[in-house]
Formats: sequence, C-alpha cells, structure tokens
Amino acid sequence: MAPDRDEILAALERVIDPELKRPVTELDMVRDVVAGDDGSVSVTIALTVAGCPLRSSFQDQVAQHVGAVSGVTRVALEFDVMSQEEKAALATRLRGGRPQREISLSPSTRVVAVASGKGGVGKSTLAANLAAALVEQGERVGVLDADVYGYSIPHVLGVTQRPVVVDSMIVPPVRGDLHVMSIGLLAEDNAPIMWRGPMLHRALEQFLSDVHWGELDTLVVDMPPGTGDVAMSLGQLLPRAEALVVTTPQPAAQQVAVRAAVMAQKTGMRVTGVVENMSWLVGTGQELFGSGGGEALAAEIDVPLLAKIPFDPALREAADAGCPVLEAAPDAEVSTAIRALAEAVQARRPGAIRKALTVL
Ligand code: ADP
Repeated sequence: MAPDRDEILAALERVIDPELKRPVTELDMVRDVVAGDDGSVSVTIALTVAGCPLRSSFQDQVAQHVGAVSGVTRVALEFDVMSQEEKAALATRLRGGRPQREISLSPSTRVVAVASGKGGVGKSTLAANLAAALVEQGERVGVLDADVYGYSIPHVLGVTQRPVVVDSMIVPPVRGDLHVMSIGLLAEDNAPIMWRGPMLHRALEQFLSDVHWGELDTLVVDMPPGTGDVAMSLGQLLPRAEALVVTTPQPAAQQVAVRAAVMAQKTGMRVTGVVENMSWLVGTGQELFGSGGGEALAAEIDVPLLAKIPFDPALREAADAGCPVLEAAPDAEVSTAIRALAEAVQARRPGAIRKALTVL
C-alpha cells in the first residue's frame, strides 16, 4: 500500500526553507508528491532560483522527515524553479501587507546600530562578531552592512553567496543562523557604489525596504563611519534604533566619536552605550593606544561603557579568513570580551530584566 499522502504533506510542514525560515508547505514550494505502492515517495520542490546553493539542506530535511513517515521505503527529491507569477505571489505573502517603502522588520525586532566617529576603529569587525555572539546566545539575528561605500561585512563573515531576489524582494543569504545583507553582495565584482546626493536617500530607502528579514530578535547594523549623509539618511530610515559607539582608547579618538553620538541622537536614535576597542594587547596588558578614551566618551555622552575589547591578532586573522573569532578561537581573550559585550547589549534590551554589568 502506498504511504499516506496527508502524512507526507504533514511531514513536509517540518521542512524549513533555510533562508526564509518558514515551512515549504506554507511558502507554496511543494509542487508534487507521488507515492508508489512499493513505499517510494517522490517530492518536487520549486525553488526561487535555479542552482540554489541550499539544495542539500532541502535534501537532508526531506529525507529525514518524509523518510520517517510510516510505510516509506525510499525518498527522492526533485527541484523545479518558481515562475515569475509564483515569485510575485511569494513576495506578496512575505511582505504580509506591509507598505513597500518601509523596512521589513517585525515590531519586536531590536535594531542595534554600531557607529563610530571615523574608520579603522574596528566598527565592522565588532558589528559582525557581536552579531555572531548574539546568535551563540540563542537570538535570531541579522546583520545589515550599511557601510555602503566601505562595505566589509561579507568579507569579515566569509559570505559570498548572492541574495536571492524574489520579485522585487531581496532575501538575505544566511551564514549558519545569521542573516547577512550588504550592498556588496549585490555589487558586481567589487564595483564601487555610485549613489550620491539626492539619489542617495531614495536608493537607501528602497534598499532597506526591499530586504526581507523575517522574524528577528536583533538586527545589527554596521553604520558608515562619521557623520556623512549616508549615516544621516540611515538614522532616519531605521526605526527605533539604538546606537553603540565604538572608539579607541586615545583621547583624540574620543572627540571624533562624540560627534557620531550627537548625530545619532539628532537622527532619532538612542545612544545606549560605548565600546572601547583595542584597549590593550592580549597577553601583555600593554596599552598600545593609550587609555581612558572609552570611559571619557561614556561620561561625556552619559551612557555606560559596555565593554573593552583587547587588541588581539586572532580577531584580525579570523576576520581576514571570513570567520567570527568566536568560532575561530572560542577561548581567546578577545572572544570572551565579545561575549561580555553581547551580554551587556542583551541586558540593555528594552524591557529586559536588568542584571548587573561586569565591572570593567
Ligand atoms: P572600521 O569598520 O572601524 O573601519 P574594521 O572593523 O574594518 O574597522 O577594522 C580595521 C582593522 O582592524 C581590520 O583589519 C580588523 O581586523 C582590525 N581589528 C579591529 N579590531 C581589532 C582588535 N580588537 N584586535 C585586532 N585587530 C582588530
């Protein structure tokens, strides 16, 4: 007797699209289910793009769940590609009635913007690693690389997969459980981004509103350095964002960082903390770049200093290898410091039960 079709469909409800994070049944991706008297089952799933690199995930999940249905002896999975109409219907469903010009974040998603007064202080590296640390702590996290002219998040996280475009909607690729979006993933061959002047705000608005993030606990945004027009536009486009300001320990850096903090406030963000990076050289305690900048900045803008991160070549090496340092060197001093930062950030989640911060 052939296995029960309803049971197979119920099993397919447990097959989750790795990027869209919803069951394939709910996304109307199941094209065909054929069950033979010999217990063989053939399933066809329609993907958004041909040659989707996540095929193996579907293969594993279908084999596991459909294979567990009683009477099933063999499972075959075939792939098809959605038509334009199907993609449009999927995009409409994912958008869920949201107006096209709004960033697609669920109301409960927290937006943490990582800002700095100038480049080179480790803002992008810390944004990527903070996101990885939040994933480690069980959160559903996205990283938006909004450093549009100097995008580096794809490099730091080793993501090269292009986003899937479903109708006019951009589905961010995943790195493990982390959703990653960068304009760099859309640019051809490392081409520079040419948005300028009046086009800029509209282009950013469209870019943000076209990205489908799904249900996230936290979206970490790598802001452009400084107080230029991209940073200002973003401040206005990101709803209810909290800003973390990254600085290095020397007093001169702190003055520049104050400007970024003031700008974040002026564009409607709430500055919630300071992170001091490159505070000491691991293994030696040596203060390569002076000391006191983080404390002084925190005092000046009246927010807590959430963490001090040591200078550790392991962090740079991991970033250059496209890997969060928490994975590359989980026990390194810098990994512990980044976990402490993530905990401090979590403790400051609006409505979170406040626990005492580690005394620095
Ligand atoms: P920004 O985004 O502020 O321009 P990056 O994140 O690109 O800065 O960092 C600049 C360089 O410094 C990168 O090569 C990065 O790997 C390195 N770096 C950042 N923070 C640290 C640290 N704590 N220890 C060692 N290297 C670091």
